[in-house]
Amino acid sequence: MTQFPQLDGFHGAPGLVRLIGHRGARGVMPENTIEGFEFTVRSGVVALEFDVVLTRDHIPVVTHNHHLLNAATRGTDGKWLQGEELKVSALPLSQLQSYDVGGLDGRTVYGQRFPDQVFMSNVRVPTLGDLLDMALKPQGAEMLFLLEMKSDPETAHIPEMTERLVSEVVKAVRVRGLEQRTVLHSFDWNLLEICGRIAPDMPRSFLTIMPKNADDPGEDSSKSVAPDFASMDVPVSQAVVEAGGHMWCPHYLDVTPEVVSQAHELGLLVTTWTVNEVDDLHRMVDAGVDGIVTDYPGRAQRVLLERGLVWNEGPDQMVAE
Ligand code: MG
Repeated sequence: MTQFPQLDGFHGAPGLVRLIGHRGARGVMPENTIEGFEFTVRSGVVALEFDVVLTRDHIPVVTHNHHLLNAATRGTDGKWLQGEELKVSALPLSQLQSYDVGGLDGRTVYGQRFPDQVFMSNVRVPTLGDLLDMALKPQGAEMLFLLEMKSDPETAHIPEMTERLVSEVVKAVRVRGLEQRTVLHSFDWNLLEICGRIAPDMPRSFLTIMPKNADDPGEDSSKSVAPDFASMDVPVSQAVVEAGGHMWCPHYLDVTPEVVSQAHELGLLVTTWTVNEVDDLHRMVDAGVDGIVTDYPGRAQRVLLERGLVWNEGPDQMVAE
């Protein structure tokens, strides 16, 4: 039905709801790290959502914010960084990878959001290439990428800067032949337009959040480069279709059964983020979404199993009665 084979891996069906590991499995493993991605894939959750920005030397790296979060970043002295947070685009890769991102500072609000996250050392910000390489190994053969590109609000008015991010990302995907396992994903609809131009062979996923649903501590989604979703004169899903989207990624508090069925009628896949509480997981399943992005893949697996649902096709999902 779809023209992009990777979309099959994000498509729900009766009895099947897709799970996508958010930044790997942030609830239990350091976010956006190879360690976290390996854990998630070994858990049987093979679709990963993660975030990419460029270093000063224009290398795409996997990290969420434009600035390193002090609460998750330790220096070579083993202490969490203090003071003004470092901007990733101001650091060469070698300096960026001198920091350890394996453990949260539990004294911070952000650290307290994830009390079950393991504490690891000698964990580095991976390059996009490091993560993509996992998919070329036997244990990564089923991996799918929901690859979010983060536009820098300070430079989003310069088209060349956004184009450079897209072209570096697309190059990293193409050089490994992973075009058919990648979905390009962003809040920045201008960036997604560029994706459509330079990578029409990869489908596009449009992230949205209504302004009433404020960010949690440590997130910078409210500062994302994005359209004014609240003032669109058509339903957001309709706007996604008109912009050439294949997948719509609404914030979970914006999801109702009605908006999901409307999006499905328009031919969109609906993948919602970031769904962490059991009640919310149930509500998203009830709403009929295709996929759920979660910091807790294990918790989501248990919710699906309890309801007799699976997240992947195939015999490994069989559960004995
Ligand atoms: Mg993301």
